[in-house]
Amino acid sequence: MNQKGMMGWLYSQIGDKKPSFVLSVMFAILEVLCGFVPFILVSFMVTDLIKGITDMNVYGLYIGLMVLFFILKVLFHAISTTFSHVATFNILANIRSNCLDKLAKMQLGDVLSRKTGTIKNIIFERVDAMETTLAHMVPDITSNMLAPVGMLIFLFILDWRIALASLITIPIGMIAYNQMMSISNKGRYFEKSVKATQNLNDTTVEYINGMEVIKVFGKTESSYKKFKDACEKGANAYVTWMKKTNIHMNFALTVLPATMLGVLPIGAILLSQNAIDLSVFISTVIISLALIQPLVTIMTYSDDVMAMTETIKEVRSILDAKEMVRPDNIAEADLPKDNSIKLKNVHFAYQDTEVLHGINIDINAGEYVALVGPSGSGKSTIAKLIAGMWDVNDGTIEIGLTDIKKIPINNYQDYIAYVSQDNYLFNQSVMENIRIGKTTGTASDEEVIEVAKKSGCYDFIMSLENGFDTIVGSAGGHLSGGERQRISIARAMLKNAPIIIFDEATAYTDPENEAVIQDSVSKLVKDKTLIVIAHRLSTITNADKIICINSGNVEEVGTHDELLNNGGLYKRMWDAHISARDSKEEL
Ligand code: ADP
Repeated sequence: MNQKGMMGWLYSQIGDKKPSFVLSVMFAILEVLCGFVPFILVSFMVTDLIKGITDMNVYGLYIGLMVLFFILKVLFHAISTTFSHVATFNILANIRSNCLDKLAKMQLGDVLSRKTGTIKNIIFERVDAMETTLAHMVPDITSNMLAPVGMLIFLFILDWRIALASLITIPIGMIAYNQMMSISNKGRYFEKSVKATQNLNDTTVEYINGMEVIKVFGKTESSYKKFKDACEKGANAYVTWMKKTNIHMNFALTVLPATMLGVLPIGAILLSQNAIDLSVFISTVIISLALIQPLVTIMTYSDDVMAMTETIKEVRSILDAKEMVRPDNIAEADLPKDNSIKLKNVHFAYQDTEVLHGINIDINAGEYVALVGPSGSGKSTIAKLIAGMWDVNDGTIEIGLTDIKKIPINNYQDYIAYVSQDNYLFNQSVMENIRIGKTTGTASDEEVIEVAKKSGCYDFIMSLENGFDTIVGSAGGHLSGGERQRISIARAMLKNAPIIIFDEATAYTDPENEAVIQDSVSKLVKDKTLIVIAHRLSTITNADKIICINSGNVEEVGTHDELLNNGGLYKRMWDAHISARDSKEEL
């Protein structure tokens, strides 16, 4: 995106505060005009002085007018900045609310698979950092651009030769400036510096969030090293950039405003040849002294504008992300007829690499189906597609003979309860964490307690410090992994959805926990369609149907006995499972 495109995009985000933006520009122009008048007055004053006018009232008037215009300039600047702040805060608010809107429409899987903290950093910190640049850009750039143009016109009116002489440093300074920009662009130093800073932000968030795991696994040194490297890379990126461009930048900043280099000798020659009056000479010197500095001020904005361009690119990576296209309503007649699930020739790729290559699966209403297969074969992906976290690239998924793309997002959520391995627990009481499961109306305390009993949570909840009122923390602190999963099952039970997808946890393999989870899952699924992603084959031998996935394809389908008789992948996995279990028992 170039800077013109960026400005157009920003303008489109102002929303109903466009008049504030226009007023900001108008007052910035008035500010420029008021800032310009004192220079004209000085030039008149000098002329009068040289003419030998001694009436102090004349000079008093000049000074009074100068003070008046100075006050007006400050006033208009304040008004312009106020309007530009109104427009800016509206832009920032619109960007944020558009991003939050978008997050609700994006594929949930896409939201979850972005790096921890990145979305939050973009929407809050990085968008916030745009405020100063945006709010001051309109008044400052308008005035700093218009003022020199006005002064130059006045210089040409006074004497065209001196006006030209005042511009002599511009080509030299611009060559140095362009040289600096080309070194900067060629080495992509700015982009690298921004990326290094982003990496530093993300690594810091990850380092702090993962502190517990880092300590438990004794990775303090290696993780600290990663963090330290990110800090060093962040600093080095800027230092390298500055080293490469420093000389050109400083040369440009010194030469550009040095208008006297041209004005003094040319003016002196013209004066000595009586080609100009002394008053013209003095006026042109005064005006050309202030001619270029505003342009230099604009140049110092270029870093801020580049930083803003990078932030806008990130914001647009959210705003332009693929949306889940779903209708707002569905006719009664089109609603799913039952809890059956059909995947027809489903293809799916996360980015460019396809991970499912034409999956066909038929699950009858009320059936208990297990998805098994080697790690990375695509089981969770299939579950997430059925749960509506991603959209298929090709093929269809039907629930009760209705294509899920025809079902509004809110309705669809009523059909599916997805219990994953890492269900999020809110920083609230256990009671509220379970209660959130009910999507239609609010569950009473009694209902929550009842469901906790059924899902095997009741005893351990009562043993917590404050029972159901215990706050479990944003990361589900104080609870074991098995306990957290049981709370998720209770939540799913309360939801009472007709289809349940259960991603069996690999981490919580202690037999006691496994038995409780098995028991609660069997209570959860009465009359419901159940899909279990099984990592331990012994837990799913009684499934109605076992679907064996291999490298993104369905390899075999059948019951446990049928698949053992087949002697294929399932049999090999089963043998491996049994021998692993035996050797564990021997230990
Ligand atoms: P399984 O559940 O059988 O272990 P998955 O469905 O999780 O397998 O993964 C299937 C393939 O998709 C793997 O190659 C995995 O690396 C890839 N994959 C899974 N999730 C993502 C993601 N969010 N982004 C990119 N690739 C992914």
